[in-house]
Amino acid sequence: MKILITGGAGFIGSALVRHLIQSTGHSVVNVDKLTYAGNLTSLDSVSASPRYVFEHQDICNAAALERIFAQHQPQAVMHLAAETHVDRSIDGPAAFVHTNLVGTYTLLETARQYWARLPKEDQFSFRFHHISTDEVYGDLANTEDLFTERTPYAPSSPYSASKAGADHLVRAWHRTYGLPVLITNCSNNYGPYHFPEKLIPLIILGALAGRPLPVYGRGEQIRDWLYVEDHARALQRVIEAGTPGETYNIGGHNEQRNIDVVHAICDLLEALAPKHPAGVTRYADLITHVTDRPGHDLRYAIDASKIQTQLGWTPRETFSSGLRKTVQWYLSNPQWLDSLQDARSQGQRLGLSGIGQ
Ligand code: NAD
Repeated sequence: MKILITGGAGFIGSALVRHLIQSTGHSVVNVDKLTYAGNLTSLDSVSASPRYVFEHQDICNAAALERIFAQHQPQAVMHLAAETHVDRSIDGPAAFVHTNLVGTYTLLETARQYWARLPKEDQFSFRFHHISTDEVYGDLANTEDLFTERTPYAPSSPYSASKAGADHLVRAWHRTYGLPVLITNCSNNYGPYHFPEKLIPLIILGALAGRPLPVYGRGEQIRDWLYVEDHARALQRVIEAGTPGETYNIGGHNEQRNIDVVHAICDLLEALAPKHPAGVTRYADLITHVTDRPGHDLRYAIDASKIQTQLGWTPRETFSSGLRKTVQWYLSNPQWLDSLQDARSQGQRLGLSGIGQ
């Protein structure tokens, strides 16, 4: 397939593009605006492939999208482009409404008009795969509950509300126009090439620099962690074999409290980076509790049995094997961090604010 991927320079998008180019025969047209979160360096290993093309574009630009569809004639769309950081959505929700809602609408409409003009057999096989989050379901109070594909939407933050709205648009384009859509709602991802405003890279890099390691409240929020390459394999299964109109939840069966994640990283660093920064005796001594985020969801946990039984996908990494790989990757790839010039200029976010997912 020739797949148009939006947001392919981001954390999950770049893992997906690397996976599709390195491990499948699919071709990729990567449409990305390159916001602060997009980084083409993450695609260095595949950018020379004849099956890879980059289009530097905003998904809110309808004319540019029309030209891209007409020129590249994709057989499928995988839509990952979004504003994604909850703390940023609280500070400035406008960009989230614009990209996540208006951008998704613009992409849907362009895809629908392109799809409507395809020959019948190509219309039948065309797919529009919208990549979403488990945060649309709100949070879980009961420690036994899991989010299923039938859990009602109850988003808490401007980020999750804008993603929930985008999910509704995608379902409406299926119901109203018959566009063959697929939706996936995934739990928190972690792994290499993760922008260091999110919890795991923030803690790894903060500890190595001897900075305070900020933990919201008592750190008792629970997230269900999935290694990003497992997510990329799940997305491949869904685009190849998912049933149009269906939703698939994707999760790692790895529920962890934030405070335990932070301690696990500190323990790994004691083993993998035993030379501490000046003035630090133990990485865990850097842990600092800060005022909790407003509207902070307490617990997310995914029931991923549908994708497992219907599409045969299961995660390969445990949290402990994936976290070790992640810490090792950050220790071995300082040049990728140097490429994050925007991250440097947003230094405040790498300090005491902007923690967690
Ligand atoms: P990210 O913030 O790392 O990357 C987003 C990418 O989208 C960047 O490359 C950015 O340049 C691009 N982009 C932003 N606005 C754009 C626009 N208007 N036009 C074109 N490109 C634009 O995000 P991520 O963590 O890789 O998440 C990817 C998708 O997966 C998102 O839709 C997110 O909601 C979803 N998701 C993320 C997680 C997670 O844990 N990170 C979990 C579940 C679902």
